[in-house]
Amino acid sequence: MLAKLKSISLGNWILIGMILGLIVGLILNFYVTNPYIKNIVLMDNVFYLGGNLFIKLMKMLVVPLVFFSIVVGVASISDVRTIGSITIALMLGIYLQPGAGLQMTGLAEASNVTINQTMPDTILGMIPDNPFSSLASGDMLPVIIFGLLIGIILAKLREETETFNKIFTEGNRIMMEMTSIVMKFAPIGVFCLMAKTFGGLGLEGIMPLAKYFVCVLIGLAIQAFLVYPTLLVIFTRLNPINFFKRFIPVMFFAFSSSTSNATIPLNLDKLSEMGVSRDVSSFTIPLGATINMDGTAIMQGVAVMFAAQAYGIDLGTSALLTVIFTAVMASIGTAGVPSVGLVTLTMVFNSVGLPIQAIGVIFGIDHLLDMFRTAVNVTGDAICTIIVSFRNKAIDLDIYNGKKQPKKEIHIM
Ligand code: ASP
Repeated sequence: MLAKLKSISLGNWILIGMILGLIVGLILNFYVTNPYIKNIVLMDNVFYLGGNLFIKLMKMLVVPLVFFSIVVGVASISDVRTIGSITIALMLGIYLQPGAGLQMTGLAEASNVTINQTMPDTILGMIPDNPFSSLASGDMLPVIIFGLLIGIILAKLREETETFNKIFTEGNRIMMEMTSIVMKFAPIGVFCLMAKTFGGLGLEGIMPLAKYFVCVLIGLAIQAFLVYPTLLVIFTRLNPINFFKRFIPVMFFAFSSSTSNATIPLNLDKLSEMGVSRDVSSFTIPLGATINMDGTAIMQGVAVMFAAQAYGIDLGTSALLTVIFTAVMASIGTAGVPSVGLVTLTMVFNSVGLPIQAIGVIFGIDHLLDMFRTAVNVTGDAICTIIVSFRNKAIDLDIYNGKKQPKKEIHIM
C-alpha cells in the first residue's frame, strides 16, 4: 500500500490535493453550518495558514531563482545574437506597456500596478535605480534587466570572472534544490487553497452573471485548447497532447493559487523536464509571468461587452478597436498576482467611457475567473517558451517526445 502511494508522482498528488480540496470546500460550504468550526477553525486558520504558507514559500523562491537562473542562463548562451533577439522582444514588450493619464480607482493604489506612466517613463522604469532595492522589492523587470547585464558580462569576461560564474551557478543549483523541497508541500498547499476558496465561495452569486461567466470560460478554453496548440503545431510541429499531459499540474497550481508569479518556479521546472533549455526559459518565463496575460485580456474583453450591454451603451467599431488595444496593454501592465486583472480593467473601461461601477458587479465572481485565467496565462508563457526554444534549437526533442529522460536534478514532478 505504502509502496503504491509512493509511486504516485508529485504532479498527480497535486491533482489529488486539488480535487480533495474542492470536495471538502463544497461540503463545508453546503453542509457545515457551525460557524465556529467552519469559519474560525477551518477557513480562517487551518486552510488560510496552510494555503498561504505554501504561496509564501513559492514567492520566497521567485526573486533569487529568477535572478540566478537568468544570470546563469545568459552567461551560458554562447551566441550573443540570441541574447540580442530576445532583448529586442523584451524591449518591444516593455515599450508597449500601458501609458499615461488614466484614472484608476483606489484599489489600484493598493496593488503594484504601474499606472499613469508615460511611455518613456515605462522604459526608464526598467532600469533599476538601485538593483538591490529592485531585488528587495521583487520588481521583476529591473531584476530581469540587471540579471541579463550581469550574465552578458560574465559571458564576456569568462576566465576573469570564474569565481563569480561559479557562485551564480551554485546559487542557481541551491535555488533549484530549494524549489524541489518546497514543491513537496504543493499537494497540501493546493488542498488548503481549494478548500478555502470553495468553502467560502458564494456560488449563488454566479447565477445572475452566469452568461458572463460562461462567456469568459469559453474564451479561455478556446485560447488554451485551440489557439495555443495550433500555434505550437504551426511553429514547431510538436505534439500538443504531449505538452498538456505533462503541463497539467502547472495549470492546476496556477488555478489554485491565482498567481502567475508564484507559479514561476514550477513552470521553469516543468519546462526543463520537457527538455527546454534554461537558457531560454529562465528569461521568458519570468518575463511572461510579468507581461504576458492572454487570459486576463480575454476576461477584460468580455467584461467590456458585458458592461456595455448591461448599461445599454452601443460600442461602435472604433470603440471596440480601442478596447482590443487597451485590453492588451492593460494585461501587459497586470502584475502576476491575484485579482490585479480586475484593477487594470478600470483602464479599459475608462478608455471607452464605460461606468467603472460595472466592475463592482463582476467583482463577486472574479476570484473564480481569476483562477481560470491565471491557468491560461501561465500556459501561454510556456507555449511561447517552447516555440522560442525550438526556433533557437534550445529544446531536446527526445526529452520532449518522451524518448529520453531529463537530468535527475531537474525532475521534480
Ligand atoms: N491573477 C492573474 C495572474 O497572476 C492576473 C489577473 O488577471 O488578475 O496571472
